[in-house]
Amino acid sequence: MALFSMKLENLQQLFVKELRDLYDAETQITDALPKLIEAAHHPELKQALQEHLRVTKQQISRLDRIFQMLGEKPTGETCKGMKGLIKEGDEIASQGGDPSTTDAGIISAAQRVEHYEMAGYGTVRTYAHLLGRPEMAQLLQQTLDEEAEADQTLTQIAATVNVEAKAA
Ligand code: FE
Ligand code: ZN
Ligand code: FE
Repeated sequence: MALFSMKLENLQQLFVKELRDLYDAETQITDALPKLIEAAHHPELKQALQEHLRVTKQQISRLDRIFQMLGEKPTGETCKGMKGLIKEGDEIASQGGDPSTTDAGIISAAQRVEHYEMAGYGTVRTYAHLLGRPEMAQLLQQTLDEEAEADQTLTQIAATVNVEAKAA
């Protein structure tokens, strides 16, 4: 929570606010993924989540670079949406039960996270273009592409896992 709240006056301020929201979201994901990796049963799912943890750390570095270019601090926002999404994933991961059904639930929760991130990165990428910062837009597009790739990988894994869950 900021010491004092400021009115939103222009797109540049909204851009920084949304970048801080994404920075907090990525930090939350970095903290949450190890628990999901441990809870996952299928090796391909564990590996995909592990890979996305590695990628997520690069995404945080990319945001750090953008904040440096802007001369702004990355902290100051809490992503309440990501808090909720992660809580839902944690519930499924700690519930126990059939392994494939649990994995299907973890995939479902993880894809919600990816789609939420894609909405956020698509928006700030567009703002960066409008604000005349193509170098930032390019960095944000790179992250957006990685989130879409993670989503597609999860869809592929779900094709197997969901069928196994149905057979349980
Ligand atoms: Fe991310
Ligand atoms: Zn948020
Ligand atoms: Fe992601």
